[in-house]
Amino acid sequence: MTLEQTILNGVDRNEIYRYLSAKRKVDDSWQTYVEAVLEETGTLILPNQLMIEDAISIDANQVKLISSELQLTSENFADHIKGGKRLWIVAATLGHLIERKIKYYFAVNPTRAVVMDACGSALIESYCDILERSIKDAHTEVKGFTSRFSPGYGDLSLTTQRQLFERFDISKRTGIHLSEGDLMLPQKSVVFMIADQPVDTPQSIGCQHKCASCTLQHCIYRTEGM
Ligand code: SF4
Repeated sequence: MTLEQTILNGVDRNEIYRYLSAKRKVDDSWQTYVEAVLEETGTLILPNQLMIEDAISIDANQVKLISSELQLTSENFADHIKGGKRLWIVAATLGHLIERKIKYYFAVNPTRAVVMDACGSALIESYCDILERSIKDAHTEVKGFTSRFSPGYGDLSLTTQRQLFERFDISKRTGIHLSEGDLMLPQKSVVFMIADQPVDTPQSIGCQHKCASCTLQHCIYRTEGM
């Protein structure tokens, strides 16, 4: 099976409806429509990624990446990976074709554009799931891992993104670029980090897409009522 098919097969349909803010049960014809758009979106993905691993030390709100000589400042992130000794940074993208098609649909069929945007978001999540799993499978000696944490969550500033991009030459190595406001282009791109943990306990902090109960009050992705 190709990577593209694996990404498509891994899509959580609930994520698509969550991105579409569907509050009620969707009927069959709407589901068929979403499936068709998802299928089309799946033909547009150009997955690419970069993974970096480094040893870390954590001191109060400072996370130091030892070999990379990089320092990230965030109380929430430091707390999230507390006890960790290694950090994996992943930059992943689905490329620019989805965005191009969304722009086209916005001009001729806005509904399809909105659904495609939601499908693209669910597809990049599926790709991140695959990459996260590959790290875990390659490091069975590690007892536990944190959940994913990204620049913009809690008090981990979006400017961290630029720090990571400059230090690891992410644009050149993946084709992901940063806008002036440090947002990624293509938009269906994600940078996330996970760390090892001394015990295998599920982390409750980090993005579980449950903003109403999430403690990261200053997260720029916060959506009330989710
Ligand atoms: S659950 Fe909401 S507030 Fe918490 S990290 Fe995710 S998007 Fe941000």
